[in-house]
Parts: sequence; C-alpha cells; structure tokens
Amino acid sequence: MQLRRTKIIATLGPATDTDEVLRAVIAAGTNVLRINLSHGTPEEQLARSKQVRKVARDLKKEVALLADLRGPKVRIKEFADDSIVLGSGDIFVLDAAADSAQGDQSGVGVTYQDLAGDVSPGDLLLLDDGLLSMRVVEIRDTRIVCEVKTGGVLGSRKGINVLGGGLSLPGIAPHDVQDIPRVAAMGVDYVAVSFPRNADDMNEARHRLRAAGSQARLVAKIERTEAIENLDQIILASDVVLIARGDLGVEIGDAELPGLQKLITNKALEHNRVVITATQMMQSMVQSPIPTRAEVLDVANAVFDGTDAVMLSAETAVGRHPEAVVKAMHRICLGAERHEDTIPDVDELNVQFERIDQAIAMAAMFMATHVSVQAIVALTESGSTAQWLSRVRSAVPIFALSPLVASRFRMALYRGVYSVAHEFPHDDVEEALVGGVQLLVSQGHIKAGDRIILSMGEHTGNEGGTNTLRLLQVGEGGHADISQSLNDTPH
Ligand code: PGA
Ligand code: MN
Repeated sequence: MQLRRTKIIATLGPATDTDEVLRAVIAAGTNVLRINLSHGTPEEQLARSKQVRKVARDLKKEVALLADLRGPKVRIKEFADDSIVLGSGDIFVLDAAADSAQGDQSGVGVTYQDLAGDVSPGDLLLLDDGLLSMRVVEIRDTRIVCEVKTGGVLGSRKGINVLGGGLSLPGIAPHDVQDIPRVAAMGVDYVAVSFPRNADDMNEARHRLRAAGSQARLVAKIERTEAIENLDQIILASDVVLIARGDLGVEIGDAELPGLQKLITNKALEHNRVVITATQMMQSMVQSPIPTRAEVLDVANAVFDGTDAVMLSAETAVGRHPEAVVKAMHRICLGAERHEDTIPDVDELNVQFERIDQAIAMAAMFMATHVSVQAIVALTESGSTAQWLSRVRSAVPIFALSPLVASRFRMALYRGVYSVAHEFPHDDVEEALVGGVQLLVSQGHIKAGDRIILSMGEHTGNEGGTNTLRLLQVGEGGHADISQSLNDTPH
C-alpha cells in the first residue's frame, strides 16, 4: 500500500464538532488538527482540544494539535446595524477614537489605536480580505478619511490590510499574551504565531510559551510584508513556517504570491525547517462535493515543490463536506507523489554539518539513494533525527520509533515520517534494535528480505544523541541481520 508522504492539517470548527464528523475527518487521514483562536469562545476551544484527544485515542491514531494565535490583526469595530453598503467614490472615515457599535454609512471605529500614524494619504486599504478597497485621502488626528475604490457590503469586525504593509504593530498582541498560557494548558503540540514581523516576535512567543510550561514547537505564519523582508531570520527563529496565502496575498498583491510561495518553501527547506502550505487550497469544497481542477493542481504543485503539509481552513471548519475534502486531499497528494521527482540531492550537498545527528541523517539519505532499501528506521527520543531525515526528498519511508508520545505527535507534521510507539531499553541497543525491527514486521511495514537503514544513538535516551548508522537485512522471523554483502539473500 502506498503511504502518503505529505501531511494533512484540518481546521476544527462548527462543522467538525460532532464526534461522528471528527472521527470521519481523522479516519480519512488528517495528521494535525488546528484550533483557530480567532473563532469560538475559550470554552469551545478547550472542549475541542479535549475532544480531539479522546476521539483520536479511540481510533488509535496519533493526531497532533496546533493552536493558532489571533495575532495583531487590525479590524473595524461594529456597525449600529450589522453591515452597510459602500459604493465607489463614497467618502468613508476610519476612526481609532470612535466607540464600538457606533459605525454607520459615514465611518466606523478600528481596533488599532495608532492606525492613523502608520498610514499616509495615497495608501490603499483593503477590507474583508480585499473584497473592498479604499484610498486614504487625508489624516485628521485619529481620523483616516478615505475614498472608496471598490465598494460592496461591509460587515462589522472585518479585517483591514494595507497594501504593501507598513503597520508597526508587534507580532504578539495583548490578547495573545493572555492566550498563550491557555494554549499551554491545552497541551497543544504546535503554536502558530500570526503576523510576526521578525525573529524578535518569534523569540518572544517562544519565551512566553516556555514560561507557561509548554514545550510546543513554534510555527511562523508568513502573512505580512515585514515578514518577507525578514524572512531568513524569522525562519531561523521558528520550527515550522506556514505560508499564509490569505493575508499575505492581500498585503503583497496576488501577482506576487506564486513566486513567494516557492521562495518561502525553498528557504524553509534550505534552513532545515518544516513548511506548511495553507489557505483556500480546496476552497470550492466549502460548498461543492468535488474540488475544481485548479484546486487539484494547487495541492499537487505544493507537493511537487516539497511542502511538508497542506492545510484546510474553512473547508473543514465550516464547510459542507469535511470528510470528503480530507479524502480528496489525501487522494491528490498520493497521486502527485506517484509522479514526483524523489531523487535526493544529498550527493550535491556541499555543506559542513554542525551536528552529528544531522550528519548521520544526511549519510543515511546518501546510502538510501545508492543502495536500494525499503525503509529507513530511526530510534529517536525527541524526533529530531526524523526531522533531519525528512528534510531530504526521498521516496523511502522513514519509520520513527519513539517511546515519547509528545515526540510522536510532533512528527505527525514531518513529510514522509511515520511514527511508531516503541518502548526501547536505554541500556541495550541491540535489544532496542531487534525489538524495533520485529515491531515493524508485525505491523506489516517491512518484511523478511527487506533492506533497511537504521539510525540511532549508542546510548539512546539523550536528545540529539544519534551517532550510529547501520545497513541491515531483515531475516526470516523478523530478525535484523547484518548483511555482509549487498547481494546476500535472507536466510
Ligand atoms: P488565518 O491565516 O486563517 O488565520 O487568517 C491564514 C492566512 O492568512 O492565509
Ligand atoms: Mn491570516
């Protein structure tokens, strides 16, 4: 059976709230579930996190949880009557000093006090993900006087972006500072930082998360112009990079988006980071039972570009076909992977490795290209060996055996990595190895005669301690024999 290498992230929401739907979404192949803190109450979000753990446990699936912080998204305040209609040429005032629930046809409040200080006449403001646009004509104290360019219905609390960026808001908003201990208490595996500007924003999030007792890994959502300007430093300060095509496309203009998607993917992989491609991947399936051809190609192209994971947002959170959309994504990823160029480029890597486990991982991938092997097996505590192994493009599955459930959840996001629970003895490497191989044979992942590459630490039990690489052949009865010759037949 072909194992899917690319991982699938689905967003939780009203459409996935029953146990039945959630079970179907997980069974269809979801690897990570995302809780978007911009929607729902804290109680609902906590209940969803508990429900995921329970349903996944019942299904015996290890699904990771990702909490997505709200970030400093600028929004308009409320209208007295829920929404208004703007026509092009209308004059409309955004006023930071205006109260909530006072908005009308002439103007509305905004959630960011200093907006008037950050924009200038001539700037183009985009509202509701770019559906409406208005140009700044004049600034009077806290009031931004605009002329509507593209009109339409404007509802309360819609987002505002400035074309080209330029807002000086820090990436960690006051509500995020309050939310961080909450997501730490939920025990999530990943935390996404929305709208970070630079490495400092990521470092602050990490610091606050650790202070709250969470070891969750950090995801940087690339969704503002400033993040593009500081791309390398943000990636290096993060564990995972998420291409947030929604806000990013509004801020930088849609024509820049395809090139940037490729640039961000390549840079993330170059820096040995994990990368997620997100937003509107299967948007039409919010309503429709099947994706458009353009969506099929979008998902497949992200796979061809080397993304670790593809993400669903509204499609599962509020869509009509949450299970069908995961199944469709699963099918498209598998199809793309059958045609993918998976020849690793490790031979051409001309770099000095700084870490032993990284060097071992690269040597494993080199070996996997030059000797035909059926699997790579890593005995790993933290999952870091599996992460290094999965940074190299390859069609060989990586089975990561770990006794730590937190490590296994984390590995749910790594392309081509399949984690397996394995309690191995710390003081007996041979026993750990034989037990691990037998486990994989009993689960049907490998069989007698298969050649496998095994990586592990001599003294397993310490993070980053991987220093050993072996080429083995699986013997009859699932024993791991050391091959003398690559042409040996199993005995
Ligand atoms: P969001 O982020 O779903 O939290 O808005 C993703 C994006 O902007 O693309
Ligand atoms: Mn966003």
